[in-house]
Amino acid sequence: MNRFLCALVILLLCFSCGELVPNPDENPNNITRDSSEKTEEKQQEFAIVIHGGAGTILRKNMSPEKEAAYKAKLEEAIRTGYEILKNGGSSLDAVEKTINVMEDSPLFNAGKGAVFTNAATNELDASIMDGKTLNAGASAGTTTVKNPINLARAVMEKSEHVMLSGKGAETFAEEQGLEIVAPEYFYTENRFQSLKKIKDKEKTELDHDAKTAFYDPMIKDSKFGTVGCVALDKNGNLAAGTSTGGMTNKRYGRIGDAPIIGSGTYANNATCAVSSTGWGEYFIRAQVAHDISALMEYKGLSLKEAAQLVIQEKVPNLGGNGGIVAVDKNGYMVMEFNTAGMYRASMTDGGEITIKIYE
Ligand code: ASP
Repeated sequence: MNRFLCALVILLLCFSCGELVPNPDENPNNITRDSSEKTEEKQQEFAIVIHGGAGTILRKNMSPEKEAAYKAKLEEAIRTGYEILKNGGSSLDAVEKTINVMEDSPLFNAGKGAVFTNAATNELDASIMDGKTLNAGASAGTTTVKNPINLARAVMEKSEHVMLSGKGAETFAEEQGLEIVAPEYFYTENRFQSLKKIKDKEKTELDHDAKTAFYDPMIKDSKFGTVGCVALDKNGNLAAGTSTGGMTNKRYGRIGDAPIIGSGTYANNATCAVSSTGWGEYFIRAQVAHDISALMEYKGLSLKEAAQLVIQEKVPNLGGNGGIVAVDKNGYMVMEFNTAGMYRASMTDGGEITIKIYE
């Protein structure tokens, strides 16, 4: 009898601890759940988040003037999208127009301000996704389209394809009446000097095969400024977009994660919208943007939990770095990165604005 009682007490204790002590197998990454985020309640009627690239952005390397210029441009960009959303416009329009502001600024590695390839050209990538229809469009390796995000949207809406590249993408852009510029339009002196510096460094290195030269830490950090935007509109539709010049010194027609749906960009009204920035090869391998959505859809994680798992564990465990901005279907916003900084801004439906650069 005593033995029976003991067993019963032990059994009862086990049951009561089940809630308090998580089974490590069920939570292998030890992500703490924030129950306030699990709520299905709408947090915002509409919301918008942007990034202007992640990397080793350190306060000590930044002059007050430069910092102010970045913050002013981030604010101009996000307010553009905010106004569209506030007036009942679509999340797709907000994403496209917000990204246009950053593409037209030489501060960011997208549009004007794109980094240089090894051949001293500028080859631009972009993508956009509609969370309502799961339709998507992307362009890769273009050299003459002023605003690649507009081309990505045209591919999504006006072609039966998802991704166009190089000359074909440029022909399509012309046919669609998009603004075409001479390749020299993308020249900026400081991006050109970055390429020169990297190439000089390569020359002085005795032992460098093509791979180590490409993955040189200096190279991986000279790509800041990819831009991205995610938004939720008043109709509950999510959209995401990303635009970039890629990585300085890239070769052989290299394409990064930015135009890859599921890596650089993903949106699904059932879960969230995500835009990535970082070392593209790792973001492709980790399928960052879709992975975050899938963790929410199939595992029931909150946006924050999913973003933390992918950005703080999965990507760095592979050896990559970078960050994302995301918004979920309830307007909950996340800006997650594993680098020293990420140019970023968010705005709530009430107009509350946050603009940050460092951790
Ligand atoms: N993800 C971009 C690429 O790899 C670069 C960046 O975000 O900084 O092309």
